[in-house]
Amino acid sequence: MFDKIYDNCDPTEKEISCQCGEVLIKMSHGRPRRVMECCCVDCYQHLEWASVMGGPKVPIVPTLSYWDNDIDVVRGEEHLRVVLLREDGRSKRTTATCCFSTLMVDHPGYNGVMFMLFEEACRIQDDVPDVPPTKTRPAESRIYFKDFDTSRGKLPEFGGDPSRVHQTCCPKYINGWNSKSSPTLENPSGEKIQSLFERIPQMILGLEEGKRILSRSDCPVGFE
Ligand SMILES: [Zn+2]
Ligand SMILES: [Zn+2]
Repeated sequence: MFDKIYDNCDPTEKEISCQCGEVLIKMSHGRPRRVMECCCVDCYQHLEWASVMGGPKVPIVPTLSYWDNDIDVVRGEEHLRVVLLREDGRSKRTTATCCFSTLMVDHPGYNGVMFMLFEEACRIQDDVPDVPPTKTRPAESRIYFKDFDTSRGKLPEFGGDPSRVHQTCCPKYINGWNSKSSPTLENPSGEKIQSLFERIPQMILGLEEGKRILSRSDCPVGFE
């Protein structure tokens, strides 16, 4: 499967924090199920929104990593919000209001067994100190290339197998990956993000699909 390239990742617990450090979360399993790069308009729009609100710089192509859905919020839960791009948005992106980092992301396709992190929009503990995650947990594919627009910047070359650059999400070889990837969690010790989401406020940004967010005036809704 896809996880062979992650065999060397340290599978023990990892820390996730927002950029400023106010929010600290532990995840029980430190080996990602998969890592990929996504050029889609929704990933980009959320990160642009977070950036104009004061969050991290938007990467030209975001790196998405997928982890077992087993976490423990150590501190900073009061800063967390669940953000949807629009009323019918299917992804729920946890955002830290202290510094507008993006933390765990949920989508119905993850079947409750995993969540996604934007590697560039929060801090995820290294597998090996001082070795960049792009070396220890490299992206195995690049998806939604059809959505890439050169106004985002110069496209970085894909570091993996060039046959794994895809126009959309689901080329045949990954068909059903979400549902086929392990449907269970081994020895969960914390909570699922869905249970965290029941406690933290949610907000809907009301953004039109594909619209670029270049300043706060492009956002109908900000944070209170
Ligand atoms: Zn995306
Ligand atoms: Zn923060």
